[in-house]
Amino acid sequence: MKNIQVHKFGGASVKDASGVVNLLAIVKEFSSENICIVVSAMGKTTNALERLCNNFFYEKGDTELILTEIKEFHEKIISELFPQGNENLKNHVENIFAELYWALEEEQKKSFDYEYDQIVSLGEQISTRIVSEYLNSNGFSITFIDARDLIRTDNTYREAKVDWPTTSEFVNEKLNFSGQPRRYITQGFIAGTSENFTTTLGREGSDFTASILAYCLDAKEVIIWKDVPGVLNADPREWDKASLISELSYFDAIELTYYGATVIHPKTIKPLQNKLIPLRVKSFLNPSAEGTLITENQNQERVASYIFKKKQYLLSISTRDFSFIVEENIEEIFKAFNKARVKVNLMQQAALTFSVCLSSDEQRWNELLEELKKNYKVKYNTDCELITVRHYSDNTPKELLNRGAVLLEQRSRHTLQYVMKSDV
Ligand code: ADP
Ligand code: ASP
Ligand code: MG
Repeated sequence: MKNIQVHKFGGASVKDASGVVNLLAIVKEFSSENICIVVSAMGKTTNALERLCNNFFYEKGDTELILTEIKEFHEKIISELFPQGNENLKNHVENIFAELYWALEEEQKKSFDYEYDQIVSLGEQISTRIVSEYLNSNGFSITFIDARDLIRTDNTYREAKVDWPTTSEFVNEKLNFSGQPRRYITQGFIAGTSENFTTTLGREGSDFTASILAYCLDAKEVIIWKDVPGVLNADPREWDKASLISELSYFDAIELTYYGATVIHPKTIKPLQNKLIPLRVKSFLNPSAEGTLITENQNQERVASYIFKKKQYLLSISTRDFSFIVEENIEEIFKAFNKARVKVNLMQQAALTFSVCLSSDEQRWNELLEELKKNYKVKYNTDCELITVRHYSDNTPKELLNRGAVLLEQRSRHTLQYVMKSDV
């Protein structure tokens, strides 16, 4: 284990100029450490770029308007951070937008997923330039390094798979921590292929970037800075009585994120667990508070946790001729899931039907339906909610479970799940 810390700042922490000022105050506290800082796109930029990409690819709606909004949002932040101006930064950001303008003028489009990654990755490219320039201009010298030169992936656009050996080689070659303290800043979420195309690691993937870098560097700790006090036993937007879990095991953290606790990206934990690197989730609004510490330690008390996963599809698949659903059908059905790249969150089998709760974007959902309808009868509900209660008991607050009609229920020793629909 090396004396290196990886810090990750998400969109909420850099949503405006004062967020960037706060980031500097936080990292200054780690001035004597070797650090690598991972930064996401500012505020809701990725959502805006997603809308832009949809309009561009499907030739609907206005792209100019969205682009202008994104540009003005960043220009405002830059002018507030650099009241005297900063030509270098202005040129960098102008160049990134110029690239985007060119991309939007391209007549020939490749696949949606490819175009998505080339466009949506710009949010991180812009944010890291701004943050890096601000830190360097305010007495915190730091080296900017492009994540595409560090993280090598295959070309599964929008959900690229990491080539670990090559990534490890690049990271250790390019991030030099000899002679202390050294500091680097890079983008979360984005990576590159062997042909130098940009890929992304999946929405909210910057946490995963921090974990990849920590793994490759043998870092001693990862700190993820959030707008919440740490990992709570429910999303505070869903339940105002949610409370802080001060210590969690990797195992519990993986389970929580698997069931849909969006506070940490689900892929973040495994690389850290594999090298026993502790993960701290802390509040950028209250940096001196301890937050949540995630380690190998399995001895914590079992806290009941509630996870609400929205925008779920509940599918019920049956054969056309009243025959049983057997292994062969399930194989075929799962091939269709895999092909459409949807995410299965829960399943239940009965004699004549196979029910599945899944997450998907609209485009992939339509592809899936088309495929399944070739051989099966398919019924479905959209816009359902999957509620998971871990370590449930009779004390589970009733208000959390009375959020609609229960369409499907599943229970194991520690976990209770409901698929609900509020308007039936
Ligand atoms: P960022 O993108 O800035 O890194 P996110 O918005 O992705 O951060 O994650 C933080 C948000 O996660 C919180 O504002 C909170 O609403 C939500 N969240 C969901 N589940 C939990 C949980 N169990 N504990 C804490 N926050 C949670
Ligand atoms: N900016 C990307 C997103 O919003 C990645 C991240 O924030 O982690 O999905
Ligand atoms: Mg986020």
